[in-house]
Amino acid sequence: MQQHLKDYARLIVQIGANVQKGQTVVISASADSAYFVRMVAEAAYDAGARDVVTRFFDDALTRMHFLRADSAVFDEVPGWIPAFFREYADQGAAFIRIESSDPELLLGTDPDRIQRNNISTSKALKSYYDKMMGNAFPWTIAAIPAEAWASKVFPDLSPGEAIERLWEAIFAAVHVGKGDPVAIWREKIATMAARANALSAHQFVKLHFQNNLGTDLTLTLPEAHKWVACGEKAKTGTNFVANIPTEEIFVLPDRIGTEGVVYASMPLSLNGNLVENIKFTFEKGKIVKAEATKGLEHLEKELEIDEGARYLGEIALVPYHSPISQMNILFYNTLFDENASCHLAFGRAYPTFLDTDDRTEEELKARGMNDSLVHVDFMIGTADLSITGTTAAGEEIAVFVDGNFVV
Ligand code: ZN
Ligand code: ZN
Repeated sequence: MQQHLKDYARLIVQIGANVQKGQTVVISASADSAYFVRMVAEAAYDAGARDVVTRFFDDALTRMHFLRADSAVFDEVPGWIPAFFREYADQGAAFIRIESSDPELLLGTDPDRIQRNNISTSKALKSYYDKMMGNAFPWTIAAIPAEAWASKVFPDLSPGEAIERLWEAIFAAVHVGKGDPVAIWREKIATMAARANALSAHQFVKLHFQNNLGTDLTLTLPEAHKWVACGEKAKTGTNFVANIPTEEIFVLPDRIGTEGVVYASMPLSLNGNLVENIKFTFEKGKIVKAEATKGLEHLEKELEIDEGARYLGEIALVPYHSPISQMNILFYNTLFDENASCHLAFGRAYPTFLDTDDRTEEELKARGMNDSLVHVDFMIGTADLSITGTTAAGEEIAVFVDGNFVV
């Protein structure tokens, strides 16, 4: 176990953030993850980090804050928080986030407080998030088990056993315990890049998604779009992997080009609440109708945040036979569930164009990039999902058949 933890920490530092000599590393994590954060910090110093800065939070305190703090605080963000992120982002620091939160942390708290908090925080941190999504600096997200999360995933096990099982699942998902994970990931990055390049070469104009859940959705892709897999390049000059694990190849859709209906294939943990059986109806790119059998009020609060929240910002392809999908575990955590399933995101897009460099925000928007304070992935992949691409010449090419790549 100890060796696996060390390998995992090294993977996060060397492949995830790809920490360089002399670089500052910023780690955000839950206080009960401190034992693992220390290992990540060790690995970062081993890689030559100049300094490791930590930002701890705590699930119980977060929940207490939403239940008991003065209502006015949810509209405020103290200036030091954006200043903290801006300062380190401007230095080209590497940002690491370790997730472990309870997927239903905020169950029963006031949805209005959650919404106001999201608006004020994402406004205050907008320039940081925009830079992050534009790869201005290397960043990565990974996860470790905590009791509430593990018990949600394995409700029939004791808390101790649930944590153990979740560790096993995470190690399997991130390829720890099968040899040198750094070497395994280098190979994986190369394989996925080749597939992404092959998709980009088609320059599909449209993608049509269909399955037996009832999904019948047509998405439009902007000109000169670029499919991206793990192993992105930060503007600071180094490669990094934004999500550990990752199985997705993604691209931005044209903001106003989505038509039809899509059904989510998994529950979504959104702002500490679960939303189940989502169905979206699109017209001219916009979600004109949102339905869900549970947690609809939380979904609607998120869609109300701004105009761009009702438009899509990501199309991600993940084979149904991906290693994480084959575990057949519902993780209730987007980092894992999105890598077991094709997904879309509503909200801001990653500017995945062939020639993004030096483009202004306005130019990118004019080319179809959606902007919003939010970016929320929701899973849509199924065993019978088919995706057909249409090229500029009108040729139809099967991209997915029965949930898996055929290109
Ligand atoms: Zn994604
Ligand atoms: Zn996403």
